[in-house]
Amino acid sequence: MSDPVTDKYCVIGNPIAHSKSPQIHAAYALQTGQDLDYERCLAPVDGFEATVRRLVAEGYRGANVTVPFKLEAARLATRLAPRAAAAGAVNTLVFAGGEIVGDNTDGPGLVADIVRNAGVPLAGKRILLLGAGGAARGALLPLLMENPRQVVIANRTLATADRLAADFAEHADRLAVTAFAAVEGGFDVVINATSASLAADIPPVPPSVFGPGVLALDMMYGNKPTVFMEFAASHGASVRDGLGMLVEQAAEAFLLWRGVRPGTGAVLASMRQDG
Ligand code: NDP
Repeated sequence: MSDPVTDKYCVIGNPIAHSKSPQIHAAYALQTGQDLDYERCLAPVDGFEATVRRLVAEGYRGANVTVPFKLEAARLATRLAPRAAAAGAVNTLVFAGGEIVGDNTDGPGLVADIVRNAGVPLAGKRILLLGAGGAARGALLPLLMENPRQVVIANRTLATADRLAADFAEHADRLAVTAFAAVEGGFDVVINATSASLAADIPPVPPSVFGPGVLALDMMYGNKPTVFMEFAASHGASVRDGLGMLVEQAAEAFLLWRGVRPGTGAVLASMRQDG
C-alpha cells in the first residue's frame, strides 16, 4: 500500500511574505484533523498563469489568490462560482477533475467579520467602500445582500468604480460612485478596500467621513494599526483591521476545499495575541 499523500495548497500573490494565511490554514487543519500543507507562493507580476499551471502540474489541490492577481484569476478559471462570476474576481481556486474552479470568499468573510465578530448589523446602514479592485469587487454583492440603505463606491480611478457599479446595475438604486475628495460624511461603516495601506498611504477622503459611531475597517492587516486606521481613530471612528476578514474568508475557502467548516473564534483570538 502506498503512503497517503498530503494535499498541497498555497496562497499566490506579489508581495506575499506578509501573508498570515499559512498560519490560519495550519490551525484549521489541526482543528479539523485534515492532512494538508499550505505555503506562500510568490508569482512574478507577469507570471500568474504560468504559476497556476505549474501548481496544477505539481498536483496542488487548490490555491488562494491575493494582490494583484484576483481579476486575472477570474479570467483564468475554467468555471466560476456564481458569487465569483458576479464579482469578476477570484480569491480561491479549486483544482479538481481537470478544471480550475474560481470562487470568491472575500465578501462573505468581510460580512461575517463586521456582522458577527464586530457585532455591527448592516441592514439599513450607509456604507462607504473605498477601492474598486479585486477585494472591493468581491465585497460588493455580499454587502448588498445585507440590505444596506446605500453603498457609495469611491476610487482613485473613477472609471474603474463606474465599471464596478455598472456590473451591479440591478442594484443601482442603492449604489453611488464618487471621487475620494467629493465624498461627504454620514456613513455608518467605511471599508478601505484599496491597497494604499501596503504603501503606508491613505485614500484622501475628507476627515468628516469618520466620527463617533462609525466603524472604519481596513482590509489590510499587520502587526500595528495602518495609517488609515490611525487617521480614522484620530477622528473618532471605531477601527478594525483585516485580520478578522482574513480568518473568515480562509474558513470559507477551507470549507470549499475540504468540505468541513472550521471554527474561527479561537484562531482569530490566537492570531491577535501573536501580533
Ligand atoms: P487590487 O490591486 O485589485 O486593487 C487595488 C485598489 O486599491 C484599486 O482600487 C486601486 O485604485 C487602489 N489603490 C492602490 N493604491 C492606492 C493609493 N495609493 N491610494 C488610493 N487608492 C489606491 O487589490 P485588491 O483589491 O486585491 O486588494 C486591496 C487590499 O485589500 C489589499 O491591501 C489587500 O491586502 C486587502 N485584502 C485583504 C483581505 C483580507 O482578507 N483581509 C482580502 C482581500 C484583500 P486604482 O483603481 O485607481 O488603481
